[in-house]
Amino acid sequence: MPLCLPMIRHLKSPDLFGAIDRLPALGTPVSERRFMVLNPSSGEVLAELPDMGVEETRAAIDRAHVAQPGWAALTARERSDVLWRWHQLIVEHAGDLAAILTAEMGKPFAEAKSEVSHAAAYLQWYAEEANRIYGETIPPPSTDRRMMVIKQPIGVVGTITPWNFPASMVARKISPALAAGCAIVLKPAEQTPLVAGAMFALAHQAGFPDGVVNLIYASEGDDVGRELCSNPKVRKISFTGSTEVGRLLMRQCSDQIKKVSLELGGNAPFIVFDDADIDAAVDGAIQAKFRNAGQTCVSANRLYVQSSVHDEFVEKFVEKVRHLSVGDGFASWVDIGPLIDMHALAKIESHIADAVAKGGTIRCGAERIGKGGTFFEPTVLTEISSIMAVAQEETFGPLAPIIRFHDADQVVREANDTIYGLAAYFYASNLRRVWRVAEALEYGMVGINTGRMSSEAAPFGGMKQSGIGREGSRHGLEDYLEMKYLCMGGI
Ligand code: NAD
Repeated sequence: MPLCLPMIRHLKSPDLFGAIDRLPALGTPVSERRFMVLNPSSGEVLAELPDMGVEETRAAIDRAHVAQPGWAALTARERSDVLWRWHQLIVEHAGDLAAILTAEMGKPFAEAKSEVSHAAAYLQWYAEEANRIYGETIPPPSTDRRMMVIKQPIGVVGTITPWNFPASMVARKISPALAAGCAIVLKPAEQTPLVAGAMFALAHQAGFPDGVVNLIYASEGDDVGRELCSNPKVRKISFTGSTEVGRLLMRQCSDQIKKVSLELGGNAPFIVFDDADIDAAVDGAIQAKFRNAGQTCVSANRLYVQSSVHDEFVEKFVEKVRHLSVGDGFASWVDIGPLIDMHALAKIESHIADAVAKGGTIRCGAERIGKGGTFFEPTVLTEISSIMAVAQEETFGPLAPIIRFHDADQVVREANDTIYGLAAYFYASNLRRVWRVAEALEYGMVGINTGRMSSEAAPFGGMKQSGIGREGSRHGLEDYLEMKYLCMGGI
């Protein structure tokens, strides 16, 4: 199997990662079909992988179903030890994992390294949390009874991850499931399966028993997703991706009332009030908007700036945006890598065209860069209004639309006027305002005077059509546990 990008040839452990099409976690692929993984910076073919389908998914589910009771029967400490070894291996091979991630996804190498550390942090967190799966005792209504609640693993979990954080999404989903005693079948995004394969190679070294972790490579999600949702041996689906696909999976799970955790799209407002520290707000907006080329579910999608500080904010913001450099993620000077594919380029261009047709002004950027790759200039638009697509939909690219506002109550109403409720940000200093706005925003996560808030120690997830459930923290573990009430009489 070719793994042909020069950067990948320079891996410190090429033998370990060169065999990612022959992992025990894959079982035996039956299909002869293969699909290509491309480098979005150059269009180069990085690898060809087996294109697996229903048959392989069913076999993976069967393996997980056989292995899960044995995994659950280990002590919490034994499960924790395996997760801990996996964490250590990921830390040890972080440079190689980051190189694979940059090659297949495009993000700057420094961002890829930070993502791999974030992934490792989830494994560490849930290695520790595995030891803290507590039940409860209930004071009984009569003295001859004893009542208690125990927590047990849900069983086999089917997981599907997106391409934008291909390492941390894998860790964030499967580490709480494994800590809880579940077995998993994972299908990574077709654009970015290589880092998932590399992580599973390390999982094998860490010593998960056969069948506990299973991987499916596939060039599209439909067949694998349908099998995971309809196979009764799978007790739960955990999905991160678009709201559209999340809705479809939820429908497919409805026949069996299968449990779902969904981490879906967002349309994050980023509000700058007139009492904000403007320089800090500019830095926070750069981070919340342009990290990962704007391809994050928590990306600042709509920037609202109060009129008395609007011009100062725009001037300082545009100045910084002009200095962001775009290029191949392996170049040390690069702040923003390529977009994932041509569809992403087309979407950002259509949002800009729609905004300009309806009265928006381009303050910087708005052009493709070079040929061959999918590079796009970081772009700022002003004179934006709520009728424009850019204010309604997730752009998922390096485009910052700025909306002027006058009234503080009005901006909270506008910020909440969306089907999404994942992340929101605001900058202000008046404490009364800080509390009022934080409580009024209908979002699962609110960043106050910061443009970055994701942490393994905190619950990540959304309200409304941004999803169901939370990942990270002790709450993330609960999503993989069943609660069972035990009552004994005649004592
Ligand atoms: P996507 O929904 O197209 O794909 C995500 C995954 O679903 C991929 O693995 C894909 O192969 C699979 N898939 C696609 N169609 C499927 C089907 N019919 N059945 C089963 N699986 C299917 O999303 P994307 O474009 O890869 O990712 C971007 C989206 O993910 C954005 O909307 C972003 O906001 C969201 N996202 C959310 C979070 C979060 O935590 N809330 C995190 C990252 C990304």
